Amino acid sequence: MEGLKNKIAIVTGASRGIGKSICLALAQHGANIVAAATNEELLQKTCTEVSAFGVQSLAVKCDVSQSAEADKLIDAAVQKFQRVDILVNNAGITRDTILPRMKEDQWDAVMNVNLKGTFNCMKACSRHMMRQQYGRIINISSVIGISGNAGQANYAASKAGVIALTKSAAKEFGSRNITVNSVAPGFIVTDMTAGLSEDMKNKMLAQIPLQRLGEGKDIANAVLFLASSLADYMTGQVLVVDGGMVM
Ligand code: NAD
Repeated sequence: MEGLKNKIAIVTGASRGIGKSICLALAQHGANIVAAATNEELLQKTCTEVSAFGVQSLAVKCDVSQSAEADKLIDAAVQKFQRVDILVNNAGITRDTILPRMKEDQWDAVMNVNLKGTFNCMKACSRHMMRQQYGRIINISSVIGISGNAGQANYAASKAGVIALTKSAAKEFGSRNITVNSVAPGFIVTDMTAGLSEDMKNKMLAQIPLQRLGEGKDIANAVLFLASSLADYMTGQVLVVDGGMVM
């Protein structure tokens, strides 16, 4: 993929699932990786696998919902690599339940990680990217942020918020050669979706024209494109990667 060699990429939620797939894909195309998540042990594993591609990596334990920790993450990346080219805001959680039963802490937890965490990392990165006059920010939303979903009011609102945040930042940063785009995955097989029943998975499958559930690498491929120079003239967009589920 064009334009990724020797770039510095920060990926949040990099300890497993989609985030780990994104790290490996970017590393395979020559980017150095700063992997962030709350689980330090698994992060080290991501970095070990990244190293196999001959690039450098750094693991940073970080709770993105805390602005001070997001600041420290970006500082650590800049201290090691002197710059930040690519930021992938992938860290995300679910706390599903129907709206009347949803507790305030379930609402707050999802908003704080998915939406505020994305804001925290973008804000911390922005001054470096503005100084460099270069940046590629990719925010992982969800098709649920477009369609809504019963039992996921908090998650849907947070992911719709990520799309609005993406578009606003794209308008603010365009003049500095910083693009901001979003990827909206459909149903991807990871630990996040592992708890769903077979019945639920089959119902999902019936709605997917391409007749398979997604994999981490399906999302990583979209991120690769948006981070590469092939997408230099794209900003403020939402790339839906869902096998055709929501259209
Ligand atoms: P996952 O649960 O397997 O991984 C989530 C990652 O986020 C982990 O590395 C975890 O450590 C990290 N994380 C959680 N809270 C954090 C915090 N406060 N600070 C830093 N890191 C934190 O999930 P996944 O399925 O790989 O999902 C990755 C992203 O893709 C999420 O934003 C999710 O909402 C989105 N997404 C997933 C699907 C799907 O079907 N799996 C669909 C649409 C969107």
